Amino acid sequence: MGAPRYPLLSIARLRMGIDGAGVNTLVGGAGCPLRCRWCINKKLLDEASAEMISAEELFDRVKIDDLYFRATGGGVTFGGGEALLYAVFIRRFRALCPEEWMIRAETSLAVSPALVRTAAGAVDEFIVDCKDTDEAVYRAYTGGDGNLMWENLRLLCSLVAPERILVRVPLIPGYNTPAHQARSVDHLKKLGLTRFDLFSYVVRE
Ligand code: SF4
Repeated sequence: MGAPRYPLLSIARLRMGIDGAGVNTLVGGAGCPLRCRWCINKKLLDEASAEMISAEELFDRVKIDDLYFRATGGGVTFGGGEALLYAVFIRRFRALCPEEWMIRAETSLAVSPALVRTAAGAVDEFIVDCKDTDEAVYRAYTGGDGNLMWENLRLLCSLVAPERILVRVPLIPGYNTPAHQARSVDHLKKLGLTRFDLFSYVVRE
């Protein structure tokens, strides 16, 4: 098997207060197994539109902000799309980076458990968009399997400390309610999770 490549859509530099502590570069990738009704960018689902790059090429493009990353506790955030589809790539990229860089990944956890295990050894902080822990809501909104998300979240909690996981719990217009949102947080707390971001999707049809 050759070196893993990443379907790059965009690089956004010098982000502050959006992807976690410090100055961060957001690396946007294509591809996602879910089909969320209010997905803001359907292009993310189409890998054909992306540039396939190696970990070394990506490192060369983002290292310009090395000093900012080190000075502020920031680093590189993989977004998408579904970042953990590329866990093997992220592991290779992490090995190239200075230890001081924070590597973050935005994920819905709609991937195989093997990829979650790989990512656990390479990613410093996970930003998990759980959608909703109610299986019926999850399936209706994403077309995917809420049980897979839940089992992967349990797995991730067994592999990394809860402080390394931020769970985004959205209010999804037309699909769930504030009561669902509160119930999801209750479920998530039972896994030992402590960091939540409650917010509402903004829908533009
Ligand atoms: S998980 Fe994110 S990228 Fe994937 S379909 Fe849902 S909103 Fe779009």
